[in-house]
Amino acid sequence: MLEAKLAMKSQPNHQTVISLSKQVIIGGDRLVVIGGPCSVEGLDQMEQVAQSLSAIAVAALRGGVYKPRTSPYSFQGMGIDGLRILAAMREQYGMPVVTEVMAIAQIEPICAYADMVQIGSRNMQNFELLKAVGQIDKPVLLKRGLAATVEEFVMAAEYILAHGNPNVVLCERGIRSFDPFTRNVLDLGAVIGLKQLTHLPVLVDPSHAAGKRELVPNLAKAAIAAGADGLIIECHPTPEQSVSDARQALSLEAMAELITSLEPIAAAVGRSIGDLDNSSAAFHWTSYGNRAVIPMETSI
Ligand code: PEP
Ligand code: MN
Repeated sequence: MLEAKLAMKSQPNHQTVISLSKQVIIGGDRLVVIGGPCSVEGLDQMEQVAQSLSAIAVAALRGGVYKPRTSPYSFQGMGIDGLRILAAMREQYGMPVVTEVMAIAQIEPICAYADMVQIGSRNMQNFELLKAVGQIDKPVLLKRGLAATVEEFVMAAEYILAHGNPNVVLCERGIRSFDPFTRNVLDLGAVIGLKQLTHLPVLVDPSHAAGKRELVPNLAKAAIAAGADGLIIECHPTPEQSVSDARQALSLEAMAELITSLEPIAAAVGRSIGDLDNSSAAFHWTSYGNRAVIPMETSI
């Protein structure tokens, strides 16, 4: 991995922090949870999600509007109308929004509405797309490819960094295995290794790793215990009715329970959870340790 000269740590405590907004910073002591449905399905759905998540320690909203679907006959996403809904939620609830880009032509509309651009697993080695998001001024959430090695993952991040965008967050979302019991296998060894090798923040997506909602909370806890800087989790007002990834979606109530249950795990590894504006009564501000951070320029 010697060639990943921009992604690798220059010293043991080298850690990049990336701002999605003034309050939401990924890579610091405070864990960042991004929550929302797999797909934006409509205004009503997103209002229910944003209202519920803005009241708990979920810092940012997710929702796909350009969807990579296995079948061309499946719902492909709401496109621009979905982006407008995400922007309305950002405006109304003050939460930054994250959405997936699948093609270079989608970069411009997405950047006009979203705070962070997701490169999905299926595009982790779409090198032209990586080069193109290297030239934007929004942070990029880069998900690990379905069968990508850690080295390939880091080199994909290196593409974005080398093309001029320093704001890259890595996301482990499970890798393919022989066993259909879980949709993918969450590679926590990779999370630990990525935190040791690179200075980039690392999030974990337990939803796409598990593929089953009942496995998501404990995988989320394990990810925090392993040193992840936060989580991206799928949830929905009526999970069984999700138009995509229904089996893995948490209810909004389950999401709230999960966040509360993460607090002691976070504390045990010297982290806290939530954002400064959090209004949850069960929420405690604690500052742990003195982890050195080297802030890099932020883009928003
Ligand atoms: C998603 O976030 O909905 C998604 C499609 O993720 P992944 O690229 O990890 O499969
Ligand atoms: Mn999904």
